[in-house]
Parts: sequence; C-alpha cells; structure tokens
Amino acid sequence: MHEYSITESIIKILKKELKGKKIDKIVKINIIIGKYSGYSSESIDFYFEILKKGTIFSSAKLNFIIRDIELECPECSNKFTADSVFATCKNCGYDEKFNVISGKELLIESLETE
Ligand SMILES: [Zn+2]
Repeated sequence: MHEYSITESIIKILKKELKGKKIDKIVKINIIIGKYSGYSSESIDFYFEILKKGTIFSSAKLNFIIRDIELECPECSNKFTADSVFATCKNCGYDEKFNVISGKELLIESLETE
C-alpha cells in the first residue's frame, strides 16, 4: 500500500516542476525503478491510473525503466549485478551482506509532452 503515497508524491513533484510552464498534455512519464527499491511498478501504475484523473496527467502513461541491483563485495571489492541482494561473489565466494551500489532508486527520469 506504500505505492499509493509514492505515486501521490510523484504527481506532486511533477506538478511543482511543471508550474508556470506552457504544457497542455503529458503523454509519457519515464520512471527509473530499481529492483531493490521495494516498490512494485504494477502498483504504482495502478494508483497512477486512479490519481491522474482530472489532472494534467490524465492522458499520460508511465514507462518504467528497470534498474538491476549492483552489489559490491566487502571482502574483495568485486562489483557485479544481481537479481537479488542474496547473491554469491563469483570472485571469492562471499555470500553474506553486500554493499548495495544501485538498485534502490526510484526516480523520475523524464517527461514526454505533446
Ligand atoms: Zn568477493
């Protein structure tokens, strides 16, 4: 259910960003979402469809750009991408707590207007 509030903030941020600009229609909003962000793109999309009604975003679609999880091994500094934080370092076999370099992000990348 935390996707509801994150979707609300996405809309709030965009509205602020667009204030004073002469844009009639937003067609697409590109959002970067890390596999380790804890957010479900399906849920964000679901709430966006509800929240966009009657706003400047009413004909906009969300486009999610999925970011892999990038981990760094604390033992040997090996950096690699993984589908999960529960991974094994191929270099030294370490399989405990890795440093997460990226994959936690949820960012508004760009807007496409008409
Ligand atoms: Zn390692």
